[in-house]
Amino acid sequence: MQGKKFYQEKLFIQFQLSDYIPQDNFYKKLKDIIDFDFLYTLTSKYYGSQGQKSIDPVVFMKLMLVGYLENLNSDRRIISTSRMRMDILYFIGYDLDEELPWHSTLSRTRQLYGEEVFTSIFKCILKQCVERGLVSGKKQAVDSVFVKANASLTSMVEKEVLDDALVYTQELINNEEEVPIRKLPLKDRKVKRSNKTHISPADPDSRMSVKPGKVTRLNYLAQVSVDTRKHVITHIQAFQSDKGDAYCLPELVHHVHNNLKETGLQLREILADNGYSSGKALKFLSENNIIAYIPNSGKYKFNRDGFTYDKSNDSYICSQGKLLTFRHFRTDSHNTYKIYKTSVKDCKNCPLKGNCANSVGVKALEDTISKHLYDEMHLRMKTLKGIKMRKLRSSTVEPVIGTLVNFTAMSKVLTKGIKLANKCMVMAAVAYNLKKLVLTNKTPLQKLRPKIITYLKGITDFLREWLFNHTAYIL
Ligand code: SF4
Repeated sequence: MQGKKFYQEKLFIQFQLSDYIPQDNFYKKLKDIIDFDFLYTLTSKYYGSQGQKSIDPVVFMKLMLVGYLENLNSDRRIISTSRMRMDILYFIGYDLDEELPWHSTLSRTRQLYGEEVFTSIFKCILKQCVERGLVSGKKQAVDSVFVKANASLTSMVEKEVLDDALVYTQELINNEEEVPIRKLPLKDRKVKRSNKTHISPADPDSRMSVKPGKVTRLNYLAQVSVDTRKHVITHIQAFQSDKGDAYCLPELVHHVHNNLKETGLQLREILADNGYSSGKALKFLSENNIIAYIPNSGKYKFNRDGFTYDKSNDSYICSQGKLLTFRHFRTDSHNTYKIYKTSVKDCKNCPLKGNCANSVGVKALEDTISKHLYDEMHLRMKTLKGIKMRKLRSSTVEPVIGTLVNFTAMSKVLTKGIKLANKCMVMAAVAYNLKKLVLTNKTPLQKLRPKIITYLKGITDFLREWLFNHTAYIL
């Protein structure tokens, strides 16, 4: 007989939220793992002793995490999604009929708390990952990604115009007059913008940057360090996107080293791509006894065709036996170079002069002052271990960055300023590490399962062989 469901809403029901959350629910497991009670002490300095009660700091942080775990890039969506999900309500400690905090409270609280609150949570979760054996600390793979800033290129203004605007705004405040605001954006003017000449008043910390094949945008640069054992993030930091990877490396390594040291681990090896290669970066790593696996950039040459280096005299000898002696240094933003030259007299009658000497009639070569470090790296990257480390880097850090950008709400920051961008990136990394923690938090029976399966398989194989042998004997 065909049934038909009638719905009559009940006025009163007996309901307990925890009864409806399955044991294997992600948020149920997460609630059991994390303990954010230390936040009450850590954030107490941001509140007075009187007045209206604030949002609970633990509820705030849990709502932030929900945003990153559910890939929600807006405070409104965090609240609306949480309202509709029983498991999230259970996680944040709200009942079905309780009113959730207003979405703008999240934004204000995010601005109120200092960066140390967010980094403390990151370190707390990292410590738990270390205790669970998910982090070795020894090898760290690093890479970076552009994260779109909350500002548009069309809003950029010339730097002097912005200075004028700030003075003008101050005048308005001082005189308290209602004067129409001057139009500043330059979107209709055909002006070539650059980070040197233009700035975004919407987010002055953001910078123009572009990846090959992509459009130019205002971005921040997220630098990420990932442990090679189980791909746990050991540090994440926001930089201005016009800073090169090599420039960021020393600061990044310094923080990774400190984070690991606090958990009793020691950083020994850094794996990175050739964007991180520079004389300063290699010198920093060498001075701190960290073994790096960073391919040299394309300009580097191990040998120079037709020229032999004479280490004892610090000079080059050309194929015609003429000496290129060291003359002077040249410095740019990344490196300091040593310049070697012949004299005009040496090259004057040389048959190779047309292809070899410059317009002045001399041959000049330049090497960075860190050439010995580049040479060491060149030889290290050619070893079997170097080839293996190159593959390990890409298979470790690139999937993590992909997950952060595509599934952990880190494709764009909806805040303004580098400090808030950093807080957002840190929370995205916390959400990522928490997923690792929950997924590896197995019951004793689950941990034993692979061993039991191997044991049973062994018995089955033995019995099959025994039966085969004995049956054959009987026959
Ligand atoms: S041009 Fe000068 S540096 Fe070049 S091969 Fe001749 S002598 Fe040597």
